Order: sequence, then structure tokens, then C-alpha cells
Amino acid sequence: MDAEIVSRSCETEVSSAFVTWERNFSKEVSMLKLAFFVAMCLIGYVSQSSAQNKFQEDSIKTSRGDLRITFIGHASLIFDYAGKVIYIDPVNAQADYSKFPKADLILITHEHQDHLDPQAIQGLRNDKTRIILNEASAGQVPGGKVMKNGDSMEVNNLLIEAVPAYNIVNKRSDGAPFHPQGVGNGYIITFGDKRVYIAGDTENTPEMKALKNIDVAFLPMNLPYTMTPEMVADAAKAFQPKILYPYHYGETDTSKLIQLLMGEKNIDVRIRSMK
Ligand SMILES: [Zn+2]
Repeated sequence: MDAEIVSRSCETEVSSAFVTWERNFSKEVSMLKLAFFVAMCLIGYVSQSSAQNKFQEDSIKTSRGDLRITFIGHASLIFDYAGKVIYIDPVNAQADYSKFPKADLILITHEHQDHLDPQAIQGLRNDKTRIILNEASAGQVPGGKVMKNGDSMEVNNLLIEAVPAYNIVNKRSDGAPFHPQGVGNGYIITFGDKRVYIAGDTENTPEMKALKNIDVAFLPMNLPYTMTPEMVADAAKAFQPKILYPYHYGETDTSKLIQLLMGEKNIDVRIRSMK
């Protein structure tokens, strides 16, 4: 074999090795690209789910499946039930609602800014979203359905009842109640065999104390706008909710309510992060 042939075959070897290396290299680059893409997807997924995971959740058994409650804060709650997402008083001061799934149903108890946030609603709604509100909120939310105290209607197979929410003793310096009678709503939603009462901003009114068959109750507990622990305990003793969540409680000492209801063996008082 002469030197020229050796050198040529060497050249062929080298160039074919180079082509293989180049192919492998571009394969590696596409693998890297894929890995990067997967990593970004994972980061996106984790950050989205951790945005929701930072909130406490409870699950309530009903005859038609579990009701999942997410405690956003203050008066803001989410109910997940039978594939539908229901938002109660969503306000962006409590959470970035642009990160949450679109709403099937939004309930607004009244027009105060810690309950009604038109921007948060706008971010949650799509063509199919149903919105229920009190009359005083209607001007700020196009397409909302007004319910008055005493009204009831069925939405997404759920029975919704609007009940009174108002002050009796807590008033502004000019003598007007913070929440005048007939303006705001509480809501009772029936999920399968369970009735869930979201009281809105109210005191322990005669109408509240006369409620029947409430499985889960959310009662507000902060002065001067709503109730003291004593008023919440008084109402709970009267209508006997099976589970009681004080909410909208600001800096109120929740241990006081637990003490006051210590003897009420049929009421499960649950404290969640709802300042
Ligand atoms: Zn409020």
C-alpha cells in the first residue's frame, strides 16, 4: 500500500468521523433543546400549582362527590364541585386571580371593596361565567344577575338562596349601619345533600338564628363591621351548623370563639387562614 492510498483512506475516515460527530452533536443539541423545553414546562407547572398550593384547602363529602374549599383570605373563597369552579367575593387584594381557572359561577355578597373587585371578576370570567350579586353591585359588573334577600334560583345544577346580611348594633358615627338591612346578601348553596352558608357582612340577625339544616357555615367576625366572637357563638348555638368557619376575622382572637363553643359538641369549629 503506498503512502498516497493510506493518506486518502485516512482522510475518508476522518471526514466520516466528523460527519458522525456533527450528527451526534446536532442530536445532542436537539436533546438539550427538548430538555430545556421540558424544564421550562415543569417550572411553569410548579409555579402555577404552587400559586394555588399556598392556600389551605378542605374537602367536604357530599352525596354527589367531594366539595373542595380553598381558603383564599378574608371573605374570598373558592368551591370546586362536580367539575365547576365557584368563586365567592374574589378580590385581587387577597390573591392574583389571573393565575386561577376561569369561573363557572361568581357570587358577590355586597358592594364593599373587600368583597367586590370588578377587575378580579373581569380576569375570572369568560362567555359561560354566571355572576350573581346584590343590586348595589350590579352597576359595576355588566351581565350580573341580581338576587334580593329571599330570592332563590338554580345555577349550574346548584340551588342558590340569597339571605339577609345586615348590622343591628354596629353603626357608623352618623348612625347609619355599616351594612343596612336589605342591601347585602348572604348565600346558601346546596351541594348534593350539603347546605353551605356564606354569611357575607352581617350580625347575628334573627333571620340567621332561624336558619335550618346548615352543614357548613362561614360567619364574619371582626369589629366594627360585623360580629364579636360572642355574637358568632350566639348565632352558632341557635342554628347549629355542623361545621363552623369564622372568616373575615381580621385581628380578632379566634381562640375566644373556640372557648365560647367548647360545650357545643355538635359544632365543629375550624379555624383557617381567613383574616
Ligand atoms: Zn367586609
